[in-house]
Amino acid sequence: MKAINMRIIMLVDMDYFYAACEELRRPELKGKPLVVGADPKNGAGRGVVYTCNYEARKYGLKSGMPISMAYRIKPDAFYVLPDFEYYEEMSKKVMEIIKENADKFEQVSIDEAFVDVSKRADGEKGARALAEIVKNKVKDTLNLPCSVGIGPNKLIAKMACNAAKPNGIMYVSENEAKKFIEEMPVNDMYGVGKKTAEKLASMGYATIGQLANANLMSIMDAFGAYGIELHKNANAIDESEVQENYEVKSIGRERTFYENTADTGQIIKTLREIGKEVHDEVEKSGFAFRVVTVKIRYSNFEEHMKSKSLARASDSQDDIINTAIVLFSKYYENGEFVRKVGIRVSNLTNYKGQKKIGQFEK
Ligand SMILES: [Mg+2]
Repeated sequence: MKAINMRIIMLVDMDYFYAACEELRRPELKGKPLVVGADPKNGAGRGVVYTCNYEARKYGLKSGMPISMAYRIKPDAFYVLPDFEYYEEMSKKVMEIIKENADKFEQVSIDEAFVDVSKRADGEKGARALAEIVKNKVKDTLNLPCSVGIGPNKLIAKMACNAAKPNGIMYVSENEAKKFIEEMPVNDMYGVGKKTAEKLASMGYATIGQLANANLMSIMDAFGAYGIELHKNANAIDESEVQENYEVKSIGRERTFYENTADTGQIIKTLREIGKEVHDEVEKSGFAFRVVTVKIRYSNFEEHMKSKSLARASDSQDDIINTAIVLFSKYYENGEFVRKVGIRVSNLTNYKGQKKIGQFEK
């Protein structure tokens, strides 16, 4: 029986996506160690490994590792430069399949998406069956592997997916959720960045369970309001909704920096400029928007998209810019170099002729 208000959230995440895409168009590389990343230049190359297949991982290679180090470990692996246009094309096809099987769909990066399937999947059995359907369809139509995590919220779905990799499905019920994560190190908790993990470690919290049992006030002293979220998450609680973003109808702008930058002042200034351009388009279109999404692409080509739903439809420039800056400030990993940022507004409503107060309130 399904408890009232119980949510079923899935995270579908492609396995070694860039390398899997390369294997697809170059089948001769399949079964051999394959690295997608910067040019290794016989060990003198700069930059990092973006992703590598499981054959390469057997030798200890992994994403984020300096390409020179990867080359020292495995000089005879196949090194391929990234082709993001091709990956984006494949990503669109993957996302179509995921979306077809969702009540609500939120793409969070080029190769992963959260879906809320509470309406269409009844309990564990239904959720597992649906995960199989998505996984098999991605495999059958695109010949790409993925993993699926299923849980009562986004946090648990993400962490179940990590545990299911590669090529697996894992279901964690609401009752099992706390136990599922309590032995894991705090830096494995979804959303915890390097800096937060270091701070937690210095406070003596090594596992998620220790953080869950910590005094909330002491966590708040150290992290402010964010401490409440951290503490809840450690207790397997995550109330955030699957936030529909990147709808077909959307208006967006992106900007690539001449040089990768970690200067938050410069990035925020750029967000203001893009926000103004997006607003100009919104004005021209006559639409109002409900959702603002910020995209950050880091220098290692990792890409993050974060969205926020406004309380009501808006056509205001301030709403675009302020929401974008709040999202950026909340999710940006300080010190990480950024290559590109973007802002997109979606959930568009035709504003003209219905501009009455309260019209868009839910
Ligand atoms: Mg992935």
